[in-house]
Amino acid sequence: MNYEIILATNNKHKLQEVREILSPCGIVVYGLSDLQLHPEEVDENGKDYYENALIKANSVKPLTILPVIADDSGLEVIALDNKPGLHSARYAAECGGHDKAMENIINDLEGKDRSARFICDIVAINLDDKPLKFEGICEGEIIDHKDGTSGFGYDPIFKCKATGKTFASMDSKEKNLYSHRALALKKFVTYLRVTGKISCHNLPKHEH
Ligand code: IMP
Repeated sequence: MNYEIILATNNKHKLQEVREILSPCGIVVYGLSDLQLHPEEVDENGKDYYENALIKANSVKPLTILPVIADDSGLEVIALDNKPGLHSARYAAECGGHDKAMENIINDLEGKDRSARFICDIVAINLDDKPLKFEGICEGEIIDHKDGTSGFGYDPIFKCKATGKTFASMDSKEKNLYSHRALALKKFVTYLRVTGKISCHNLPKHEH
């Protein structure tokens, strides 16, 4: 039998990635719009990814008894004091979009160390008496131009260490083997299995 959860997001790209990763395990992922859920607007003013993901998950709590997961994620560029980090979405909006934000990051990195990482915290509620946190980190570097057209956000400038390719030049199947989000979700699926909530033997693959 399928196991149903809600992803507390209206971000179509995140929903698509999460679906692709979880559906082979028999997990049906609903976005908020699929269920006509309209949580109250919340300020994502947490001090870290966990707190922001928890704020998003909790905003849906009054509306459902289904398990709810929320993703908070960001790109940390080491030589830029780990920015844009927690404020990755806000930074792109302030720049007028991800294209301009990526150009700014490329310019700011001129002559500097290019190491970077993507971080994803998945928080799950309505599963245990306390919120559960699953974290994934993907190491890489920022290249000096945009490369590739797949994915979303900062994907064209982030070269994944494990593949030597930008996320935007990997197809979704490959990104979903290596990404921060895939790793966090794999930990979530393992939790569901060991607690007997699902019996999937088809664990999401994650390569390092
Ligand atoms: P959030 O929706 O508040 O968690 O913001 C996440 C932001 O981080 C996105 O809007 C992107 O700017 C960036 N981001 C997170 N994950 C990814 C990814 O997989 N690829 C590219 N950008 C990402």
